[in-house]
Amino acid sequence: MRGFRIAAHGGPEALEWKELPTPEPGPGEVRVAVRACALNRLDLWVRDGVPGHEFPLPLVPGSEIAGEVDAVGSGVEAVEPGTPTLVAPAVSCGHCARCVSGEDHLCRGYGILGEHRNGGYAEYVVVPRRNVLPLPRGLSYVEAAATPLVFLTAWHMLIARAKLARGEDVLIHAAGSGVSSAALQIARLLGARRIVATAGSDEKLARARELGATHTVNYRQADFAAAAREATGGKGVEVVVDHVGGEVFERSLEALAWAGRIVLCGATAGHEATINLRAVFFKSLSILGSTMGSLGELHRVVGLLDRGELEPVVDRTFPLERAAEAQEALAAREQFGKIVLTVGDPEAAHRVPRPREES
Ligand code: ZN
Repeated sequence: MRGFRIAAHGGPEALEWKELPTPEPGPGEVRVAVRACALNRLDLWVRDGVPGHEFPLPLVPGSEIAGEVDAVGSGVEAVEPGTPTLVAPAVSCGHCARCVSGEDHLCRGYGILGEHRNGGYAEYVVVPRRNVLPLPRGLSYVEAAATPLVFLTAWHMLIARAKLARGEDVLIHAAGSGVSSAALQIARLLGARRIVATAGSDEKLARARELGATHTVNYRQADFAAAAREATGGKGVEVVVDHVGGEVFERSLEALAWAGRIVLCGATAGHEATINLRAVFFKSLSILGSTMGSLGELHRVVGLLDRGELEPVVDRTFPLERAAEAQEALAAREQFGKIVLTVGDPEAAHRVPRPREES
């Protein structure tokens, strides 16, 4: 099969376009013919390398995959070649206490496609049977690929970790990112009262309002913490969704109401922050970390995508062969929503194999 492989970290040139062995599905595994694969910031870390972290190179990157079941290994039931599928983006051991409790994202053997094992920047990928979810109705392969990691991450942050309740106020940073464009929709679905979104351009803020933001702040021009307090009559927001970190994290504490919760799933602007501990105890604040979410949560997200209650946000597509260019576009942070690679015939990648009206 054709695909990209990273054998050594580096810049865009580290993505090697190669003829790779087509993977064979073992017992309990499924081979998926990839139709679309969405980009994540993780792909850039896998390519560039992260000081102090070892990736299992050589590796095919790509975590968010939609395609068709191509072949099944022994013992695989209830899934047949040709079935349109959305691939769950991570694997776990399946038998530890965490896994059997529905907390597979906390399994010690947890690993993300494209980070811990081969992902979707190639014509085929092999995954365990339980990673094969039905492609949500009404979505193309491209749209479906734009969802699993970002919606799962945002869902787990807002529901399992921050426990956002109906009528509460929320601040969502960097609305143009994949996770935040998902978090906006989930906050609206949960019945948040005021949804304050930040972004660095007025164009992105307009898109954020379309997805559910009630108040928007251009962080290049205004103090977002002051804006969040002003939007909530001086109270502050109950929940902040952050993956920027650094100084944004520090100042986010000033945007929180009493008993507020800040939930963090990344720190793209800086891993270190100085926290005013007096504010943390005096205002009973909670600082919550979050990574991915459970497979059960992803099934719930797929159900909502199926019914059109959550919608993928695709910024643009590139053919797989132009993955290096697509990654440069991601690094430039000009997009709103997801950048998606089409694998094989681009027209087939934009096809909707399971229309909603048939349901
Ligand atoms: Zn486990």
